[in-house]
Amino acid sequence: MSMKTNIVAFGSVKIGGPKFAVIAGPCSIENEQQILTTAEFVKANGASILRGGVYKLRTSPKSFQGLGSEAFELVKLAKQKTNMPFVSEVTDPRQISDLYDFVDVFQVGSRNMHNYELLKELGKTDKPILLKRGLAGLVKEWLLAADYITDQGNQNVVLCERGIRTFETTTRNTFDINAIAHVKQFTSFPVIADPSHGTGVNQLVAPISFAAAAAGADGLILEVHPNPTEAKSDGHQALTFNDFEKLMLQLKKLLMVFDKTL
Ligand code: PEP
Ligand code: MN
Repeated sequence: MSMKTNIVAFGSVKIGGPKFAVIAGPCSIENEQQILTTAEFVKANGASILRGGVYKLRTSPKSFQGLGSEAFELVKLAKQKTNMPFVSEVTDPRQISDLYDFVDVFQVGSRNMHNYELLKELGKTDKPILLKRGLAGLVKEWLLAADYITDQGNQNVVLCERGIRTFETTTRNTFDINAIAHVKQFTSFPVIADPSHGTGVNQLVAPISFAAAAAGADGLILEVHPNPTEAKSDGHQALTFNDFEKLMLQLKKLLMVFDKTL
């Protein structure tokens, strides 16, 4: 018997229940047109939550680091236009108070799964947390990281499998489908899948999305960009609007098999 999954509210959207949630948007917020057109498109095609990086943790310090607080006004506009809850990564405890007014969900990125001081501070807030698995995090360590948050009083944690680093280099990461099934069977945390970072390859995002849904994931987080070749981060894994529309049509049919809906 699998464990009963907690229901966690991301704004008005419940994660972990009979509905499957799709979070979509660009890796990074770049400008007003980019975020508004993307937000409106993903909403019209079944996404219920908007993503968009504001503070980015990039491998190279010379890469685009995100718009930072300059993105806040754009977030406000996108939320006004679409009425979607918004999730964005917090990379440092000092950002919590500023981000608090703009995000509905704090995302902890892969590089910060082991940042226990950040997790403890987030555990003292009243917003839900999307906790990504570390690049080299064991499932056991990921679950203990979640406990750092819940032990401070905040029970609203959703896990996110985003691939791990293995000996395989064909794809950016190795998406661990086992982890999804394990979390569903043996823990009460809702779990969503990030096939964008899990594969790093635009063409692989749809098949791995379907595999994750079949393995029991409660939702997906997908990177979408109006023009991926011009993206300031993660363009090679971004879905075009057409890709996203097609994925969502197929996903809806697949979910019926599992008595779930968007
Ligand atoms: C992201 O969601 O854009 C991101 C940086 O993800 P991760 O922390 O999984 O690399
Ligand atoms: Mn990204």
